[in-house]
Amino acid sequence: MSALLEVAGVSKSFGPIAAVDKIDLAIGQNEFFALLGPSGCGKTTLLRMIAGFEVPDQGRIILDGIDITGVKANRRPINLMFQSYALFPHMDVAGNVAYGLEMEGVRGAELSRRVDEVLALVQLTALAKRKPAQLSGGQKQRVALARALVKRPKLLLLDEPLGALDKKLREQMQIELKRLQQETGIAFLVVTHDQEEALTMADRIALLRSGRIAQLDAPRALYERPNSRFVADFIGQMNFLDGMRQADGFAVPNLGTFDALNLAEIELGASASLAVRPERVQLYLQEQPGVFAAEIDGLAYLGQDLILHLKLAGRAAPLIARVPAANPQSADFAQGLRVWCDWPAAHSLILSA
Ligand code: ATP
Repeated sequence: MSALLEVAGVSKSFGPIAAVDKIDLAIGQNEFFALLGPSGCGKTTLLRMIAGFEVPDQGRIILDGIDITGVKANRRPINLMFQSYALFPHMDVAGNVAYGLEMEGVRGAELSRRVDEVLALVQLTALAKRKPAQLSGGQKQRVALARALVKRPKLLLLDEPLGALDKKLREQMQIELKRLQQETGIAFLVVTHDQEEALTMADRIALLRSGRIAQLDAPRALYERPNSRFVADFIGQMNFLDGMRQADGFAVPNLGTFDALNLAEIELGASASLAVRPERVQLYLQEQPGVFAAEIDGLAYLGQDLILHLKLAGRAAPLIARVPAANPQSADFAQGLRVWCDWPAAHSLILSA
């Protein structure tokens, strides 16, 4: 992968707060990259430094091999799409899209051709003469995208681009953004606090924690091989069973001793947590060798899946299981029912903080 953007040892503090703390990352040509993390982890500060609205205290930002750390925002071949779409209310859709090109001196047939092309790309040709007030949230979002894409930046930065949309529209736009990114070949760097959004759209995700990268990986690796409790907890849902690595496995008080995918990597005597995704918990209506007993303590029907809260002997926190509602045994599950459970060792991990 040849890097389009390199962030090398970049730091930024506001008074005593290290908002971004020595971050290194490289984004490939044509890559859809997501910066993900809880509120205050430094995503926006990093994005603003890449855009040129904030100056790093330390480190360098390199685009296509050229150091742009000191280059002004308007001189960088980078566009930033804001969460509030900032459309001009008195201009129609085509006018809003044309504006940036007109500022660059593009005129006449070239201007119309480029505006028409990008309106077709975001499927807004029919609405070219509408004013922003006559558009839905999703349509406004697409105008903002068209406006950013028409300038053909090398890199498009998107700050919580779908934040203003309702859930259904967000899901639709996530697929659409991904399609647009692939069709235009422009690298996208999106900032989001929504893990589902990052998993759906991104080729790779950097999960930030307190100004640092907690893990940088493809979505599947981040979900299936989180490197810490923090990552496992942020991406999806996870059960954690605290215990200790012993010679014969990972011992969880009151439950037993378990094998896990990364057992061999854990030091003898280390205290940690055994992490199991709810969808990996297997349930049985009869006792079997090697399983442990539980009682159904809560049950939620989500349409496609059932969420079960399982009470285990000697444990305060429930073990959460997620099973397809269509499973024949799901019809038998009820509050208070005694069941047995286990999980495949290959789908459990031992993690520390
Ligand atoms: P959110 O998802 O809430 O937007 P974020 O991950 O984008 O959060 P940042 O906005 O980058 O986080 O902020 C990182 C840290 O830096 C926070 O603790 C924030 O309070 C602090 N911070 C950001 N901008 C400033 C500023 N201009 N002055 C002082 N502190 C700031």
